[in-house]
Amino acid sequence: MAVVTAPRVALNEGALAELRTLLGDRLSTSGPVREHHGKDESYHPVMPPDAVAFANSTEEVSAIVKVCARHRLPIIPFGTGTSLEGGVAALKGGVTIDVSNMKEILRVSPEDLDVTVQAGVTRKQLNEHLRDTGLFFPIDPGADASLGGMAATRASGTNAVRYGTMRENVLGLTVVLADGRIIRTGGRARKSAAGYDLTRLFVGSEGTLGIITEVTLRLYGIPEAISAAVCPFESVRGAVDTVIATIQSGIPVARVEFLDELQMEAINRYSKFDMAVKPTLFFEFHGTTRGVEEQAEMVGAIARENGGLDFEWATRPEDRSRLWQARHDAYYAALGLRPGAKGWPTDVCVPISRLADAILETKEDLAASFLVSPVVGHVGDGNFHLVFLVDPDKPEDMAEATRLNDRLVERALRMGGTCTGEHGVGYGKMGFLAQEAGEAYGVMGDVKTALDPLNIMNPGKVVRVG
Ligand SMILES: Cc1cc2nc3c(=O)[nH]c(=O)nc-3n(C[C@H](O)[C@H](O)[C@H](O)COP(=O)(O)OP(=O)(O)OC[C@H]3O[C@@H](n4cnc5c(N)ncnc54)[C@H](O)[C@@H]3O)c2cc1C
Repeated sequence: MAVVTAPRVALNEGALAELRTLLGDRLSTSGPVREHHGKDESYHPVMPPDAVAFANSTEEVSAIVKVCARHRLPIIPFGTGTSLEGGVAALKGGVTIDVSNMKEILRVSPEDLDVTVQAGVTRKQLNEHLRDTGLFFPIDPGADASLGGMAATRASGTNAVRYGTMRENVLGLTVVLADGRIIRTGGRARKSAAGYDLTRLFVGSEGTLGIITEVTLRLYGIPEAISAAVCPFESVRGAVDTVIATIQSGIPVARVEFLDELQMEAINRYSKFDMAVKPTLFFEFHGTTRGVEEQAEMVGAIARENGGLDFEWATRPEDRSRLWQARHDAYYAALGLRPGAKGWPTDVCVPISRLADAILETKEDLAASFLVSPVVGHVGDGNFHLVFLVDPDKPEDMAEATRLNDRLVERALRMGGTCTGEHGVGYGKMGFLAQEAGEAYGVMGDVKTALDPLNIMNPGKVVRVG
């Protein structure tokens, strides 16, 4: 993959002085702080900004943006830096605006099942806060990401098959635009036919259209009964066909995750489990006690027809937490399969009827390759992930990962799918987005230019302009 070599925009003394007056020691130009903000959790090289501004409020973000706009400095929003496609890299230098100090939960309305938070609140912090209310927020990317970053990447996770993604769960936003204007989009009403849906425009825009400073989210009641189970299969096809039949039968599973035999081996080692090293599904069922039993019985019957072995149940809350933590740690577990390697994570999503073909063809590619890559996925949505374990200093590793990734995405697009179900585009998948969106890619560029005519908002990501 080519590293972007766009010229850096110099941070001049005048801009630095203005930002220092605004922020004092909350403006950092220290090497380690800049390095930390120039990298995500993947193989993408570190590209540090020239300065990092730690904002405390929407008004402060607006003031910082106005300074940057006057000096035409690139702005890179930063939540927790857990994204996977180079989204936080400062490709042209500039100022990273870190919103992680914006950690206030502004309002919880249990009677309306909604909440408004500042963008730096993380998903775990929110659920901790909600613990005594009987409510929870279900979207759970593996990392404890910020809700601003999750909105910006249109994140999802293991619960999306039942509760949707950030697209379905963000009701409204406060956004600072590229000229410093502050706007509020959407609201608390469950439906609205009022005008363009700007909320959905900003959800998934990856910091290229504005900085999200507040997010209003849907909440859900904690189900009366929850049970989780693990089921190994004799074959990948058996496991995936079980998922397809479950979804097509309309069984409202809350979670259904696929892990191939390599990923199971990695999880056993990393999370100290002793599960069968076979293609495996992790399930979770939510509902009333009777409802959960019924769902489990129906899925159990489908699994048996497809060569599923015994269900192993995790009924105690602590056993369920351990199981799902292991699933969330799958990426780090995978890295352990090749010590010293970097992870090149990638994801695609296909219509559910094409899932088995997509995964089986991908597994054939991997079997014929020298690169190691486990397969894991939120398969109830048709979404699956690979992690190529690469040594970025070895050109042959990077060339092979590029080849496999190209084939993966082309396969997904051919099957009516998308180049990324949840990780986003960053700069790693820009070429694929152009291919996927066709004529609409130009319209995305028009939107970008209309909202950010100076191209200072996270330049070089998502859509190519100028
Ligand atoms: C182990 C692991 C597992 C993961 N599993 C999943 C998963 O299951 N599902 C999933 O969807 N993702 C997953 N991810 C990816 C990542 O956690 C998500 O993309 C997450 O939403 C990023 O949030 P963040 O706060 O870390 O954002 P960052 O990495 O800080 O930023 C991501 C992008 O959003 C922009 N941005 C950040 N904050 C804002 C803001 N306030 N306003 C505007 N733009 C902003 C940034 O400029 C950047 O382009 C995983 C990552 C890891 C490391």
